[in-house]
Amino acid sequence: MKLAVIPGDGIGLEVLPAALSVLDALGLDIEKIPLEIGYGKWERTGSAITDEDISIIKECDCVLFGAITTPPDPNYKSVLVRLRKELDLYANIRPFAPLKKVKLPCVKKFDFVIVRENTEGMYSGIEELQQDAAYTTRVITRRGSERIAQRACILAKGRNKEITIVHKANVLKSDSFFRDICIGVAKKNGIAYREKLVDSMAYDLILSPEKYDVIVTTNLFGDILSDEAAAIAGGLGLCASANIGDRYALFEPIHGSAPDIAGAGIANPIAAILSVRMMLEWMGKVKEAGVIGMAVDNALMNGIVTPDLGGSSSTDEVSRAIKGSVKGSD
Ligand code: ATP
Repeated sequence: MKLAVIPGDGIGLEVLPAALSVLDALGLDIEKIPLEIGYGKWERTGSAITDEDISIIKECDCVLFGAITTPPDPNYKSVLVRLRKELDLYANIRPFAPLKKVKLPCVKKFDFVIVRENTEGMYSGIEELQQDAAYTTRVITRRGSERIAQRACILAKGRNKEITIVHKANVLKSDSFFRDICIGVAKKNGIAYREKLVDSMAYDLILSPEKYDVIVTTNLFGDILSDEAAAIAGGLGLCASANIGDRYALFEPIHGSAPDIAGAGIANPIAAILSVRMMLEWMGKVKEAGVIGMAVDNALMNGIVTPDLGGSSSTDEVSRAIKGSVKGSD
């Protein structure tokens, strides 16, 4: 296995080495290719990611990604959006379930996955900025909708055999198109489905997250709902994600580069470490993935947590504790 490693910017530079140290403790045969990509590189060289970087990544099997700062500069193009397109990582999969001892703001029992279309929708990149108006084209294709619905159904088959299709079809024609395709795919797969308008979903997810299993939706809606879901699950520092395509995959914490705490050594590394767990599951290393899950549980049970979870441990202390548990499970 060849793994491209992209720490990125801000706390990506802290949580990714922490996650790698936990991966290393498993002693697996994985070749790591470190790459400097991101806003820091853009400031230094005028380019956040080069064609050569893309070629190197395409020679790898998958990517482990930290976080990248995206400044509100019209000349700066999002690196992640480009990577998702170049590698055709069409499914963004974000699982949410309570972790041990983590204080939750509302309901205590839930276990759902958001399956977000990752390459089109509002992030199609087709934009026009005029003097007095700005336009973004929202692209929803049959192929894009079919394959994301298919991914959701495959996941649902291994879970509760039910999907919730989230859309705004009462207003947007592109969403009634998306919804109808998802319904067709669910029927073909023998998967039960229900639908929910995105605004009503945002409300219900806070009140009754336990009602949901696999949620499938378009790009922007999935982006917003998954930050909401992270709040329900105890915070951005805990939530991991997988960006999956037919050829490549990229794993990353769902949080950003957190410039407000970058450099302080207090970023929670658990989201990045659980991204490694998702990567191992994708590689078929289910036992090793389980070891990481248990090691994270141990750190949480022992109260070795960063300030975002009410603790006083540093990024390094948390990752060392988790690494110690992984080694101890040999
Ligand atoms: P970006 O511009 O890169 O998206 P951001 O600050 O707008 O960064 P996030 O990085 O997602 O967005 O951070 C949102 C808030 O959550 C910040 O206050 C940040 O400190 C906090 N946060 C995010 N990730 C972590 C983490 N791993 N540990 C602790 N706090 C975190």
